Amino acid sequence: MLEVHPITAFNDNYIWLIKAPNQQNCWVVDPGDAAPVQDYLTANNLNLEGILLTHHHYDHIDGVTKLAKQGVQVVGFAKDSQRLPALTKPVEEGTTFELLGYAVKVMEVPGHTLGHIVYFIEGNDRKETNQPLLFSGDTLFAAGCGRMFEGTAEQMQASLQSLANLPPATQVFAAHEYTLSNLKFALEVEPNNAALQNRMTQCTQLRATQQPTLPSTLAVELATNPFLRVTQPEVLASLKTQTKEADWANLTNPAEAFKLLRSWKDKA
Ligand SMILES: [Zn+2]
Repeated sequence: MLEVHPITAFNDNYIWLIKAPNQQNCWVVDPGDAAPVQDYLTANNLNLEGILLTHHHYDHIDGVTKLAKQGVQVVGFAKDSQRLPALTKPVEEGTTFELLGYAVKVMEVPGHTLGHIVYFIEGNDRKETNQPLLFSGDTLFAAGCGRMFEGTAEQMQASLQSLANLPPATQVFAAHEYTLSNLKFALEVEPNNAALQNRMTQCTQLRATQQPTLPSTLAVELATNPFLRVTQPEVLASLKTQTKEADWANLTNPAEAFKLLRSWKDKA
């Protein structure tokens, strides 16, 4: 079974480090800064075998060149190879490859950027307690989602929906600690959601002692993340109060509801 450890970087980034128990080889996801990764490797006597990149933003890639010494694999989206440093393994939607003996599947999720991919490890454990792993970058956050910098609302909503269809036990490793502010907005949208109220209490306690609120699980996201809940009656009722009548009349599908919700969050 793989272990995943958070390395904090900048104000609120997580660089996830993946290793197998009692092994020296490890991988990291989205190293925006090399120094905290190098410190962690030294302190724990680990050897960096590879790097997974979700997208081209500087806070996800700026540490790559320093870390990618000879022999370190660097995995990223083939279509974005111009914007990603030192790629040794260009991948695309549906590509599978091996990481520390486990199969990783690549999913293309445009929206935050047009070249955003995520990494899904389904068979993390052969037992019934299997919890697949998802490294969701800046696409799916705890109780939120990334802004659309390059893609459309339709693309982002379809991308989130493809993640929502993964097994509910999937552990979600997002790239930022944005959970409390996301939960604050989520409670504006669904003030009566008991699961959401409980999550706010739990995450507030975790952050009071600087502990990560991640990973979450897809089951928790499905119950509390408004961006995965745009067809829920309370979400729609709240959206209606925020939307001009003419815009509301045009609302015919979940992608349009998602778009209204995202623009409400952007203004909040
Ligand atoms: Zn980003």
